[in-house]
Amino acid sequence: MLEVTPVPAFSDNYIWLVHGVGERSRVAVVDPGDAAPVNSVLDRDGLKLDAILITHHHPDHVGGVEAILRQHPAPVYGPRGERISTVDHRLGEGDECRLPSLNLRFRILDVPGHTAGHIAYFGHGAVFCGDTLFVAGCGRLFEGTPAQMTQSLQKLAALPANTQVFCAHEYTLSNLRFAQAVEPDNTDLAAFAERAQRVRGRGLPTVPSTIGIERAINPFLRCGEPAVQSAAQRKAGQPLADNTAVFGAIRQWKDNF
Ligand code: ZN
Ligand code: FE
Repeated sequence: MLEVTPVPAFSDNYIWLVHGVGERSRVAVVDPGDAAPVNSVLDRDGLKLDAILITHHHPDHVGGVEAILRQHPAPVYGPRGERISTVDHRLGEGDECRLPSLNLRFRILDVPGHTAGHIAYFGHGAVFCGDTLFVAGCGRLFEGTPAQMTQSLQKLAALPANTQVFCAHEYTLSNLRFAQAVEPDNTDLAAFAERAQRVRGRGLPTVPSTIGIERAINPFLRCGEPAVQSAAQRKAGQPLADNTAVFGAIRQWKDNF
């Protein structure tokens, strides 16, 4: 299993340190919005930075890149479809992100919706999905449509069930409150929410979850479920034609929850 260390940043971001396979002192860092916590972990633990991976252009994901590079020069990988000045390897759907010094390779998935060019990195039983899929939730639609986000989430949901989901924020408890408003009778969801509260009570991350867990508890992956559909239609006050319309209705509901 991939060794991944969370570096908490700001109020609720996770910057992920991905250790090399068989080379644990060499690392890649995912979405470093802030340089200070990353530089200090690298220096404290004597880690060599071999790559920076970016999922999308928002400042809380790229804001630390320049200041990290000044102390720890490394190649920067990021989405082909977004203008990020520090990115020197631009990636899109079907590309591979190869990091030979770390014995790592990731397949790139285009997952637009939160932003127009958002990508995810999939490999070694893990997916780094930025602000597209969260534990029990999904990102807001800043630059995309419900149809795009539905497709992106379905792409992630189709990954193997045991895939670990490394999203970029600890939004889990508030996402779970909403998920339970949508699906009050989902017993997997209720059990997961109880566990998550205990985990947060001890100050630990609820991330990563797995794709299998998300399929069972995340309302945004469950727009085909009758319970989610009827909750969405009740909220919208009208029949909803398809899963995209259901997704749009619950995304809007969550925006105002
Ligand atoms: Zn974002
Ligand atoms: Fe973010």
